[in-house]
Amino acid sequence: MKKLLGLLLCLFVTAGAFAQGAKNVIWLIGDGMGPGTMGLFMEGVRNTQLPQYPDKRSTLEKFINASVTGMYFNNTYDTVVTDSACAATQMAGGVLSRPDRVGVDFEGRPTVTLLEEALKQGKSVGVITDVYVTDATPAGFLAHTQSRRQKYEIARQLVQSGAQVILGGGLRFFDQKENKNLLKQAKKQGWQVVKNSAALSRVQSGRVLGLFSQEAMPFYGDKDRYPSTPTLKEMTQKALELLSQNEKGFVLMVEAGKVDWALHDNEAGPSLWEMINLDETLDTLWTFAQRQGNTLLYLNADHETGVPVFEYRHLDKDTFEHKSAQGEMLYGTDTDYVNYSYYQNLFAHKRLLYYVYPDFKNLPAKKQTAEKLQEMVNEALGVPTDLKLDGKVPSYEELIAKLNQAQGLRWATGNHSGGMLLGVAYGPGAEAFGGVYHNSELKAKFEKALGF
Ligand SMILES: [Zn+2]
Repeated sequence: MKKLLGLLLCLFVTAGAFAQGAKNVIWLIGDGMGPGTMGLFMEGVRNTQLPQYPDKRSTLEKFINASVTGMYFNNTYDTVVTDSACAATQMAGGVLSRPDRVGVDFEGRPTVTLLEEALKQGKSVGVITDVYVTDATPAGFLAHTQSRRQKYEIARQLVQSGAQVILGGGLRFFDQKENKNLLKQAKKQGWQVVKNSAALSRVQSGRVLGLFSQEAMPFYGDKDRYPSTPTLKEMTQKALELLSQNEKGFVLMVEAGKVDWALHDNEAGPSLWEMINLDETLDTLWTFAQRQGNTLLYLNADHETGVPVFEYRHLDKDTFEHKSAQGEMLYGTDTDYVNYSYYQNLFAHKRLLYYVYPDFKNLPAKKQTAEKLQEMVNEALGVPTDLKLDGKVPSYEELIAKLNQAQGLRWATGNHSGGMLLGVAYGPGAEAFGGVYHNSELKAKFEKALGF
């Protein structure tokens, strides 16, 4: 009976809190994370034995199943395709704007962002990214400039923003000659400036400005090379600890920025690793939201990048015979419909060829042979994969094309697409995020959920 009462109480508290609206908002943005990338990741997890997922289900899949999903446009004031700056500006500011603009509308007038509204209501706010804090997405939530390239000005505005938590890369925009005294000034204003994991973990209250690399933070797949640099998940845990000390609540934006970078490179394996990075962070955030009952958690993207798809292919005679001999050809035709092992190969990918290729080019000229390149590629991919170099050293672009040919993938672009995106909402006010809408409507939805 006691158990039953406890359960009923628990249900009552959860439903009651949901009915009362949200006290906190957490907004997780997968930069460049289109529906195709989300699908590739979820299907990949289902079909690969990964130590992170003993039940072969991603947190993303479970989160979507427990939430409200909608689809939204991200076009700008006068273009179909957006960049990250305009997308962040439109999402956080509730306006139409133009590519390259940060926190200003299409006529250049400053917006009042969701985070700035939250500050006026006495809430605490924070932004976290694994690229650099002066980059387009975090900037669009707290700064106002005519161009995303004004990084030193953005750094100055971040320090003055009234935020409690700013974590990510980008140290050089705060301590170069353009902003020589900015960190000194920040400390005078109560910011605790930290530059590594140990220093971050010592912060127990107050304001924290964490700048953990000169520019972007490392790729998730490289995290073991940088043991004193916190991961996105670790930064997020600290932000939740600090921001939830405010009784009036908080609004936090977390960006998984490197999904976009790996997609721009058209390397599917690293893109999936960055999705694992996002998934771990989502797990932390969703656990928090479930425990609190008063927190609206929203996951979306700013735009789609790359657009990777598996496709079936007709094989040449040699490849067909080779694959048949290995038992890979299931249908007796010369068409390769993509075996599930392709997913395992993608997750095995350890290092971006974007880094491997320059390493190869730095070898003494004598050593720059196709065989050596294939050997370095095999090491980076984690499984031997014949890129069919035919004794010739390809350009970097040719190498990536050969990689994708071997991995069974085709990409629509190395840039951004104009495609629609998915937004997933959990918690009080989540109903408003179903259906079809435009990214400039998001701010009003959050404000309504928060009761502003
Ligand atoms: Zn972006």
